[in-house]
Amino acid sequence: MNKKIWLSSPHMGGKEEMYVKEAFDTNWIAPLGPNVDNFEKDLQAFTGTKAAAALSSGTAAIHLALILLGVRDADEVICQSFTFSASANPIVYQGATPIFVDSEKDTWNMCPHHLRIAIEDRIAKGKKPKAIIPVHLYGMPANMKAILDIANEFGIPVIEDAAEAIGSAIDGKGCGSFGVLGVLSFNGNKIITTSGGGALVSDIVEHIVKARFLATQSRDPAPHYQHSQIGYNYRMSNVCAGIGRGQMEVLPKRIEQRRANYNFYRNALKNFAPISFLSEPEGYFSNRWLTCIQVDPNLSNTGVTRETIRLALEKENIESRPMWKPMHLQPVFKKYPFYGDGTSERLFDTGLCLPSGSNLTQADLERVIAGIQQCFK
Ligand SMILES: *Cc1c(COP(=O)(O)O)cnc(C)c1O
Repeated sequence: MNKKIWLSSPHMGGKEEMYVKEAFDTNWIAPLGPNVDNFEKDLQAFTGTKAAAALSSGTAAIHLALILLGVRDADEVICQSFTFSASANPIVYQGATPIFVDSEKDTWNMCPHHLRIAIEDRIAKGKKPKAIIPVHLYGMPANMKAILDIANEFGIPVIEDAAEAIGSAIDGKGCGSFGVLGVLSFNGNKIITTSGGGALVSDIVEHIVKARFLATQSRDPAPHYQHSQIGYNYRMSNVCAGIGRGQMEVLPKRIEQRRANYNFYRNALKNFAPISFLSEPEGYFSNRWLTCIQVDPNLSNTGVTRETIRLALEKENIESRPMWKPMHLQPVFKKYPFYGDGTSERLFDTGLCLPSGSNLTQADLERVIAGIQQCFK
């Protein structure tokens, strides 16, 4: 059997073990310590924000963001429908109602037109949404200018789900720094990883201070354990943060490598009419976490679909994956309101994520192309 090619696997830079060893040598094996402090400084500087809190996951970061904005029972929160379920789950943890909004064609992310329709309709029905969660899928920034204009017009705070987009930017401004709060993830499949972890970043330092407090069981200052509000165990361990420090040193390189994958695929498949790619709009910079293709079976006489390609690659021991199934189509979220025109549904039907790790070799990339080419023979 050919060597397995993964969709996106961890890629260590070399210094991670040194920082982890330092944690062992100094016995900082806890959800606090010098690696946590320094990883937070790295994240804050890299995203161009004023403060960062290192947490146990990106999901935890979204949950704390909602708590910080006072989202609770019977509130409504607008969320991009085309995303991973972790963007929406914490809304339900809080007892609130997710209101799903469709994507636009230019970025595949939250459509400003449908966002406005959704806000106006929710207000007409009696409730102003408490927050808006746009997502930068696969590294492509959402249309933050239009989204923020609308959010500001209605006075609704934005939580930016930048879990897939560390290093992406619009006109040089980093993803994660646009919203009141920005969410990052360091899960094993992301562009950099701490094996599992996440972070919350913000220009509002009090939000981050409060996030750290909530993430460590909301302990009041007292010699005994005293609590005046509900807390969470959401802090990142000092061991994981050591991995994160090493990963931050190679992040610019990882972005370069992922973007090179995208360019390679795009060039190699340029003569296949049914296959198309998402270009960066003017001023946009994507970290190209995953390279995705859209396969339109109507544009060839072969009838090849994204599923034809996925199965052909699977036979060659190559992992690929359909793009996210929109939340408004998920059994668990079907009952919630949705505003859109079918764009994300169509992306799901035609979209496929190709192997995109920064550790892929030239031979790996060529095997993927060969696997795709044979579908059209
Ligand atoms: C990975 C991811 C998350 C959640 O991050 P975890 O660290 O896995 O909890 C949230 N939103 C999106 C869009 C993601 O891709």
